[in-house]
Amino acid sequence: MTNGSPTASSLLLQDLGMSFGAKTVLKGINLDVKPGQFVALVGPSGAGKSTLLRLINGSHRPTEGTVNVLGVNPGTCGRKNLQKLRTQVGFVFQQFGLVGRLSAMENVLMGALGSLRMPRYGISTYPAALREKAVSNLERVGLADHRFQRCDTLSGGQQQRVAIARTLMQDARIVLADEPVASLDPGASLSVLNTLKKVSAEDGFTVVCSLHQVDLALQVSDRVVAVRDGSLILDTPTRETSEASLRGIY
Ligand code: ADP
Ligand code: MG
Repeated sequence: MTNGSPTASSLLLQDLGMSFGAKTVLKGINLDVKPGQFVALVGPSGAGKSTLLRLINGSHRPTEGTVNVLGVNPGTCGRKNLQKLRTQVGFVFQQFGLVGRLSAMENVLMGALGSLRMPRYGISTYPAALREKAVSNLERVGLADHRFQRCDTLSGGQQQRVAIARTLMQDARIVLADEPVASLDPGASLSVLNTLKKVSAEDGFTVVCSLHQVDLALQVSDRVVAVRDGSLILDTPTRETSEASLRGIY
């Protein structure tokens, strides 16, 4: 079922539509994302960005069309394949999703194997290889020195970088980020997005990241996809996308 060809798509959406009861939230979405691309998903509030990301990670089933992630349709692949797919798809949330009273290191370890289990018996019970990998991932996001600090004492930008390090534990092939910088100030936002871009380039994973700020989208992405009222209204390489054209969709 998995398509192993190097030119295969990371993500292929065909005639995708989603309705909640009588309310149509997405319609006629076609999108083909190749491995390693950093796609910025922009559009006004209520456009359907979060719904689109939830369709991609299999949290919602589409009412029209198909979703194909890494060669697998999350809606029809069965529970076992879906579990496997979930380990290959990382998610970064607006509100970080960390356990505030635990350290950065403990939170990162919770991302190992995509289990998000609580480290009930402490860091020392994790295999040494995982602990080393956690420290290395914290280093990659610039937070190795903060690894024993409680997450609720870190700044918002630092917390989101911990969340990125946690996702790196999965060795995900796609990372979906839903407005990961919406609650951060502009400086921290750029730093978090640059971190995500750096680690995605290092590991070669694909990123689909919804963003409210078009200037940030233009600074970090390879490709900009805009949604409005549930339709895809723009899909262009970032270098060919003007800020004015993006501002026009809001
Ligand atoms: P965005 O992330 O771009 O702000 P969303 O995907 O969250 O947009 O929402 C798009 C539209 O879908 C909104 O009108 C929202 O109210 C609606 N919506 C989202 N989830 C549900 C749901 N579970 N049930 C009904 N309507 C929903
Ligand atoms: Mg949203």
